[in-house]
Amino acid sequence: MADEKIKIVKDESTSIYKEWETWARKGNFRVEGYQFIKGPCGPGKIEDAKMGEFMLVNRPHGALYTHSYGLVSKFFKGLIEKTLYGTRCPVCGTTYCPPRMHCWNPTCKVAETEWVELPLKGEVHTFSVMLFSADAFLEMLPFVLAYVQIEGSDTTVPMQVITAPTEVFVGQKVEIKFRDKRMGELMDMYAVPIKGQKVPEDSCLNNPEYLKDMERDLQGTYAYLEKRFGMKKEDIEKRWKR
Ligand SMILES: [Zn+2]
Repeated sequence: MADEKIKIVKDESTSIYKEWETWARKGNFRVEGYQFIKGPCGPGKIEDAKMGEFMLVNRPHGALYTHSYGLVSKFFKGLIEKTLYGTRCPVCGTTYCPPRMHCWNPTCKVAETEWVELPLKGEVHTFSVMLFSADAFLEMLPFVLAYVQIEGSDTTVPMQVITAPTEVFVGQKVEIKFRDKRMGELMDMYAVPIKGQKVPEDSCLNNPEYLKDMERDLQGTYAYLEKRFGMKKEDIEKRWKR
């Protein structure tokens, strides 16, 4: 192994490096834009303050974050190849997905785990309905983010469940799917509920108050999406129709 040459199997990086070099040179804290705004000025109460003129400047800068997935790289490579891997402890049999390279069971004394392929099936362990998000995910709103326990594993992995926010429940059986564009990140996969399941008696979906509140909150998100992106509620709901 020691004299085995390290080679790049597939290069998805060169274009982003080139793009970044240009950007990094352009940035470098030089002023690239400015505007003048009026605002309260000087000491004392804000209602007594005089209006002053202030200059705002834009100085682009940033960082390209490059890191390795280390020993769990196989898991992320698996996502690109549409295969789900976990790891299993050879001592106690605990199966991890997402993977851990060493067992966390104290009696196993950090035993090294082994890779196992897992089925593309799981169960919703818990979930949140996202009604607002960071910029990168705004156009996906509203969406369900769940911790899913993959069949045969003892841990849970976070992923999006593509379903109406008023139809997801704890214990729901799901199928794991892969997105068309995969870059080796958790977002490469998502879950879809298996059809024809009975909602458990203790589910919040049986609570009319919960559904009423959820419907009210969803209306707020729809109104925001329409104002910001011109998105229509009907089009958003089409994402969940299968
Ligand atoms: Zn163990």
